[in-house]
Amino acid sequence: MANNLETDSLKVLIAALEKLNTGFSDLKPFSAPALDPAAATVLMQVADRMQDNYPYFHPLYAGQMLKPPHPVARLAYMLAMWINPNNHALDGGKASSQMEKEAVAEIAHMFGWDTFLGHLTSGGTMANLEALWVSGRLDPTGTILASRQAHYTHSRISAVLNLKFESVANDLYGRMDLQALQERLDQGGVGTLVATLGTTATGSIDPLPELLRLRDQYGFRLHVDSAYGGYFRLAGNLSPQTARAFECVSEADSIVVDPHKHGLQPYGCGCVLFRDPSVGRFYKHDSPYTYFSSSELHLGEISLECSRAGATAVGLWATHKLLPLVPGGEFAVGLESGRNAALSLWQKIQADPRFVVAFPPELDIIFWVPRAASVSAASELSRHFFAAAEQKHLYLALANLPVEFFNLPAEMLPDSPTITCLRSVLMKPEHLTWLADIWTLIQQVAAEVLPADLD
Ligand SMILES: *Cc1c(COP(=O)(O)O)cnc(C)c1O
Repeated sequence: MANNLETDSLKVLIAALEKLNTGFSDLKPFSAPALDPAAATVLMQVADRMQDNYPYFHPLYAGQMLKPPHPVARLAYMLAMWINPNNHALDGGKASSQMEKEAVAEIAHMFGWDTFLGHLTSGGTMANLEALWVSGRLDPTGTILASRQAHYTHSRISAVLNLKFESVANDLYGRMDLQALQERLDQGGVGTLVATLGTTATGSIDPLPELLRLRDQYGFRLHVDSAYGGYFRLAGNLSPQTARAFECVSEADSIVVDPHKHGLQPYGCGCVLFRDPSVGRFYKHDSPYTYFSSSELHLGEISLECSRAGATAVGLWATHKLLPLVPGGEFAVGLESGRNAALSLWQKIQADPRFVVAFPPELDIIFWVPRAASVSAASELSRHFFAAAEQKHLYLALANLPVEFFNLPAEMLPDSPTITCLRSVLMKPEHLTWLADIWTLIQQVAAEVLPADLD
């Protein structure tokens, strides 16, 4: 049987657990009760149930934004589980709080910040919530603006925070439309502009240099949501325009990035950063229970979430140790590899008359439709294609996007404003070496489900 799930690394975990154990050898001996044999049975049930998943770890899973955690992150996280630290207060997680501060400083440094305020969160939603919460504390009546392709979380978070929210139209590349933005800014009342660097659907990059110029002119706050795309600041193979946008992220007022998206971490790891550390004053509270072991900063004093898994910080810290966040390093090369895979697949699809592509990828996400007589027929074919690919163990995704994003042929009847397309997020470093297999499977599926002759 092919062994697709790696298990050898568990030996390293056992050795590391023995080492961890030596740190507590002064304690009066205590042994936790042996594992109940029934627990082994339950675990087999779990293994059975977990088979009902798409194989996210496999390079032929090229659908949604799902990237397996690095083994070092997984092992470090598990190792920390024997302690189960809580990064709310130093009382609950001394070592892991320090590791969080170091790991977050490394992320901030990647964006060019040495002074900042920041911490890990349970994900991008909470990280963006904290950023917009600070916006609201600074300017409770200012409207939050984000593009229509921004993550839907911004309008929902604004409602939670009781802040006004409006969306701005996109251009044909899924970026915020500058003219529409300027018209809205001229009406006044904008408190914060959310720039998305790497939209969730298409990986589009809002024109940050121009947005920063508008900030100088209009005086709004600028938040960068790069939950998906942030790490691409390290990639050396971006288009000049995209690279320029990432270069000036350091001028933003706040930044969000998700280590659990492109940062090789298990779920439960987002990060929010503020350029001005004095916004920490808004978090001020006096917990009567927790902050006694040290006068140093407890992370719970600068975070809206109280208990947070210290293991998350341990996994991230370990990953940075092995794969430092530097241009040209192994981590950056992995991002570049996924982007090269996306560019290459986009070119193959573009050259195939059976498909219609959208604009070329700015990051590592591509999307396309089968050519058909109408938009609705193309949507239908996308759904068939998706299902037939799954049968061949090629896992793609579907998305509904505005038809303007596609270079639709004149004869294609535009009978719907949106189109269901095939979407592929090529975010694993291995996708590049598997591209020939992916393309062969796409050809086979096309031969099976697409009409042979369109004339
Ligand atoms: C994924 C994503 C979010 C939401 O983050 P979660 O980690 O899923 O909570 C927000 N914004 C963008 C741009 C994203 O890609």
